[in-house]
Amino acid sequence: MYRTHTCGELNMKNTGQDVILCGWVQKSRDLGGMTFVDLRDRYGITQLVFNMETNSELCEKARKLGREFVVQAKGKVKERSNKNLKISTGEIEIYVNELIILNRSEIPPFTIEEETDGGEELRMKYRYLDLRRTSVKNNIILRHHVSQEVRKYMDSIGFVEIETPVLIKSTPEGARDFVVPSRMQPGTFYALPQSPQTLKQLLMVAGFDKYFQIVRCFRDEDLRADRQPEFSQIDCEMSFVERNDILNTFEGLAKYLFRQIKGVEFNEPFLRIPYQEAMEYYGSDKPDLRFGMRFTELTGTVKGHDFAVFDTSEYVGAICAEGCSEYTRKQLDELTDFVKKPQIGAKGLIYVRYNSDGTLKSSVDKFYSPDDLKKWADAMNAKPGDLILVLAGEKKKSLTALSELRLEMGNRLGLRKKDKFIPLWVVDFPLLEWDEETKRFYAMHHPFTSPIPEDWPLMEKDPGKVRANAYDLVINGVEIGGGSIRIHDATDQKRMFKVLGFSDEEANEQFGFLLNAFKFGAPPHGGIAFGFDRWVAMFGGQDSIRDFIAFPKNNSGRDVMLDTPSQISNKQLEELQLFIGRKK
Ligand code: ASP
Repeated sequence: MYRTHTCGELNMKNTGQDVILCGWVQKSRDLGGMTFVDLRDRYGITQLVFNMETNSELCEKARKLGREFVVQAKGKVKERSNKNLKISTGEIEIYVNELIILNRSEIPPFTIEEETDGGEELRMKYRYLDLRRTSVKNNIILRHHVSQEVRKYMDSIGFVEIETPVLIKSTPEGARDFVVPSRMQPGTFYALPQSPQTLKQLLMVAGFDKYFQIVRCFRDEDLRADRQPEFSQIDCEMSFVERNDILNTFEGLAKYLFRQIKGVEFNEPFLRIPYQEAMEYYGSDKPDLRFGMRFTELTGTVKGHDFAVFDTSEYVGAICAEGCSEYTRKQLDELTDFVKKPQIGAKGLIYVRYNSDGTLKSSVDKFYSPDDLKKWADAMNAKPGDLILVLAGEKKKSLTALSELRLEMGNRLGLRKKDKFIPLWVVDFPLLEWDEETKRFYAMHHPFTSPIPEDWPLMEKDPGKVRANAYDLVINGVEIGGGSIRIHDATDQKRMFKVLGFSDEEANEQFGFLLNAFKFGAPPHGGIAFGFDRWVAMFGGQDSIRDFIAFPKNNSGRDVMLDTPSQISNKQLEELQLFIGRKK
């Protein structure tokens, strides 16, 4: 028997027992005639004690243990005199009478403790050592719990988990495909699924009216902290449903997960906000509603005062930062620099201080009297003590910039608390997006999304105005999931492809299998997919999804541990009939 207990379970109740533990040596300390070793496994840390006086040979052996050696220790549980109440095993220690080294370890490249000296690159290279650290380990265990709870809930409401293939044909989610060359049909390629979108729709045609899957998806796109080239979705689809059925079903899942994982109860239905409203008031289709600071449009109010910036702007909008009227010059300059950053792109920032004594002072006093400024303040329900921040310019860009400024102020004022969760549904997205460069429409969600029924007549007349029967679940400014009611009629689907600029041949070439299936009694259906990694990271209180994935890739899409992507042998290339060319 290797062990009787784990390193996380012994306490005062076990004193006097003879036990066997196995684990890794976290650290060892010599104090006078005693040697103490912290033994770690997945469950915790237990202190081992060796006494020079009673067993000098064993104590010598313990002194020679290196960090991360794997050992088995047999001994007796005793109460500690110097208790550590921070850990569950901190009231006891093991008086060891037998020590077996199961395996040695080289000196690890970084300290395997919470406060590690290892940089990101090094930790990723030795990810299996990084995973021994408590916080990273706990993230992976949290992920396990969330996936178990998802399965439990989905099963309880009649969903069937069905696996779909990974070697498929392109599915359009708007990213580039990863492709896999075929050896058996040289010159042809599989695409890895950007999502199982078309397959889950085929499962609806097959009659599985409630499908889900925790599934790996692959998208070849530029990476950020919350993106990985391969990531997981909780992918779902239902038949004979309208939008409300889907929102209610998955609101149920969200509430269940929050209850089970975070102990958070949501008694009210989640807010539902149309896309237009989200853009108008928060400048974002994923507003963080942990705080207010809604935008007020001042375009009409501010014109006609010879201030060219406002007079020539398509949009003038403002936010009110409560209690910030005493912001210093330096703080205001910082905010100006912030909005002028290239990725935010505003030309400048205008402010109005609504001083506690009721006077108003602005950066545009030359053009606006205190009475004028009072009108702005009233329009925004500002009170003495507040600071009004105004941006102006082209509407779309200004809304986005104001959104960034709002989030920045939210951060500065500590309004984006990690333990507060405000979920909402954003609905009625535009179906199509116009792309100036290629002069064509693209599906904002994907081409299988159906319009809101009453908008069908606009499809050919004014495609840009058509609203999609689509929805996103947004929590704390993060898009956690999104989906839509689908088109289930072959003629309608062809109509959509046409607006997207596909010829009949192209549509058939790429999606013939789906159009075909629609000829055989496709039920009305719709679905949703949740970013599983993101959701887990949010439950774990972090922005980056990387630490919630056992073996993630870095920002350039590399796995530095496996050292891949890497070259393949000439033999493999020949088998695949692939020739690697070089650009001259
Ligand atoms: N396939 C979609 C996505 O990955 C989700 C859905 O429409 O169900 O975003």
